[in-house]
Amino acid sequence: MNNKTAIIIGAGPAGLTAAEQLLAHTQIKPIVIEADTYVGGISKTVQHNGNRMDFGGHRFFSKSDKVMQWWMDKMPPQFSDEGEEIRDPESHNKVMLLRNRLSRIYHRRKFFNYPISLTWNTIRALGFFRSAALGLSYFKARIFPIKKENNLEDFFINRFGKKLYLTFFKDYTEKVWGVPCKEISPEWGGQRIKGLSISKALKDAISQSLKSKKDIQQKATETSLIRRFLYPKFGPGQMWEIVTDEILQKGGEVLLQHKVTEILHKDNFATGVVVKNNETGESISMQADYVFSSMPIVDLIRGMKTEGSIKTIAENLIYRDFITVGLLVDKLLIDKNDRRIKDNWIYIQENDVMLGRLQIFNNWSPYLVKDQTKYWMGLEYFCYEGDDFWNKSDDAIIEIAKSELEKIKIIQKSDVQDAVMHRVPKAYPAYFGSYDQIHLIREYTDKFPNLFLIGRNGMHKYNNQDHSMLSAMTAVENIVKNRTDKTNIWNVNTETEYHESK
Ligand SMILES: Cc1cc2nc3c(=O)[nH]c(=O)nc-3n(C[C@H](O)[C@H](O)[C@H](O)COP(=O)(O)OP(=O)(O)OC[C@H]3O[C@@H](n4cnc5c(N)ncnc54)[C@H](O)[C@@H]3O)c2cc1C
Repeated sequence: MNNKTAIIIGAGPAGLTAAEQLLAHTQIKPIVIEADTYVGGISKTVQHNGNRMDFGGHRFFSKSDKVMQWWMDKMPPQFSDEGEEIRDPESHNKVMLLRNRLSRIYHRRKFFNYPISLTWNTIRALGFFRSAALGLSYFKARIFPIKKENNLEDFFINRFGKKLYLTFFKDYTEKVWGVPCKEISPEWGGQRIKGLSISKALKDAISQSLKSKKDIQQKATETSLIRRFLYPKFGPGQMWEIVTDEILQKGGEVLLQHKVTEILHKDNFATGVVVKNNETGESISMQADYVFSSMPIVDLIRGMKTEGSIKTIAENLIYRDFITVGLLVDKLLIDKNDRRIKDNWIYIQENDVMLGRLQIFNNWSPYLVKDQTKYWMGLEYFCYEGDDFWNKSDDAIIEIAKSELEKIKIIQKSDVQDAVMHRVPKAYPAYFGSYDQIHLIREYTDKFPNLFLIGRNGMHKYNNQDHSMLSAMTAVENIVKNRTDKTNIWNVNTETEYHESK
């Protein structure tokens, strides 16, 4: 395998894992091409005036032992398996913090547990008659379920009842996707919240209270309910910066600010790529023995200059885009009696604002925040690239963010000390549009034995970091074992479903 080169498109978790694995298990030299100025893809961490911002809030958890071990080899954890603190984050920089998860739902200016649980607080906040109506509607759905689930609405109603769905799921889900739940495939529910139901949530609540600090992987726990997770001291991007350093040290290359614009191929064989330097505008061709692509499928197919039905399917794949606003504030109105809230994030289930979710970065890692007396937050807005919201000026979006948080009584605008915003295109590959024909793209690209589609947008799959990494690990393993069938790569994240919960 000497002197062979692999071009890897994208320095996100998938691309960097592929490079690391090639260096660990083969003689193939990886050259990672990244369009951005940062490594980490959507899992990067950006800095603003001394504060660090995570686009989303990235929990590091996986039910794959391989991924968990890989992460902990790169960044050792704060606690031992026995729950002893073995690395004090104050004196260690390369450390994974063990964080407790708290996320709640903010609805009608009140907090509800996530997942919704039948506590005295819930009944008091909803009122007795509304709670009873929710309960009845839940039992009705369990006794008389909708026989054939045609869409996501049916999926939710069968698991939670119509009234719970309308109160706690509909608005948020429709904000995320920008289309009615009736138009979304029930398969999305199956991928995201498979198996989560009221009874599981209750059972989980009881069993969790009996568990110890160990069991970081929480294998038996429904993903939406994962309660503890690892988190790099300086945010998820720190992990990917460490991995990049290792790749460079071991002889790989990582080219930032270079965009792959064309994939060269001949007779169903990838031969290289055309890369444009973002700074100079110059384009060069690079030869490759292997090409790994974590770029969006639509761009890959454009870059391959493929015509006909494959092109049409690729062009009709839909992506949901995302804008995140960082706000630094002196105080939160939702703190009670001077006790700071502990939530990592809050689902905003309020239909009079566009805001979808609010991240409290202090509670992910205090090391993301320069001045601990302040709150550093990330507001999440879901939109489509090019729509009215996306096209507003940065200042206008920041103004909307501040006004909305004031409107729902979380902050006072006058307490905002700093603000920044970022647009994140193609944050969510959608399971509608031409998604139901994606197998045809897969059949087409699978014909190229040395072209590997990996990662989230690379495979148009709702992957978390671990799935993206596993797809890369499996692709490299196939090269090592001379396996040409790529089924095992596509099977990642179809057999085991566990994701960031929405
Ligand atoms: C709001 C939100 C919350 C999330 N929460 C979690 C969580 O809690 N835990 C978790 O594990 N995961 C979470 N995820 C998912 C996680 O962000 C992704 O799974 C992960 O980043 C995907 O890695 P990837 O390498 O497949 O793709 P990406 O991260 O998208 O990286 C792809 C890279 O390719 C580059 N690229 C694209 N086109 C080109 C081109 N033509 N030329 C060169 N470079 C190119 C991009 O710039 C990018 O850097 C979350 C995602 C979102 C949106």
